[in-house]
Amino acid sequence: MLILFDIDGTLLRSRGIGLRSMKEAVFAIHGVEVDPSKMDTGGRMDPHLFHELLSSHDLPSEPEHLNELSDAYVERMHHHFSRETWADALPGARTLVETVHEHDAMTASVLTGNIEQTCWLKLADAGFPQGWFEFGVFGNEGETRRDLPAVGLNRYQSTLGGQLEPHQAIIIGDTLNDVDCAKHNGCTVIAVATGKTSREELENAKPDLVLDSLEDTEAIMDWMLSR
Ligand SMILES: [Mg+2]
Repeated sequence: MLILFDIDGTLLRSRGIGLRSMKEAVFAIHGVEVDPSKMDTGGRMDPHLFHELLSSHDLPSEPEHLNELSDAYVERMHHHFSRETWADALPGARTLVETVHEHDAMTASVLTGNIEQTCWLKLADAGFPQGWFEFGVFGNEGETRRDLPAVGLNRYQSTLGGQLEPHQAIIIGDTLNDVDCAKHNGCTVIAVATGKTSREELENAKPDLVLDSLEDTEAIMDWMLSR
């Protein structure tokens, strides 16, 4: 069984340092002040956010410009995280990931819109050792989030050798995009209302389970193992 954890709003919060770093990265390259706070970021892929940020301010947004912005963004994130703690684990999240990691029948991994470099940076800052996760699936690995679960299933097979049915992959996330990408791929999905999306909105998207938090480790483990 493969458990794919979303990061922002599911495992941790990072006080807006991602958007601040994107803003600083655009300024460093183009000398233009942008306002990323107006973007809808929930469950979105970082490369899409880079594109939206540039194109909405009439800045060039060809692939080379996106790569340039991505590099500058990673540099700003390293700068900030080397000076201060920004990411806080959400209640129960560390215990749940560690418990999944230690369980013989389960594999812990991440499925996130973050690019790889900033994913591990945020997780380490919030107290999640990278070693708890067998692998990750990142925001630059598909056109939309719907492409990511299949990458996760393939990566499970190539790194661990076994084949999984899609429903044996459980996606845990806080946005409608997490629920959508799971259902589109036939995966199981747990929605947790610790991000910006309300419990009611999540319930309307019909995930397999809706939670207010990840705090009840035992109940969540029992539910997942019964699937
Ligand atoms: Mg999220």
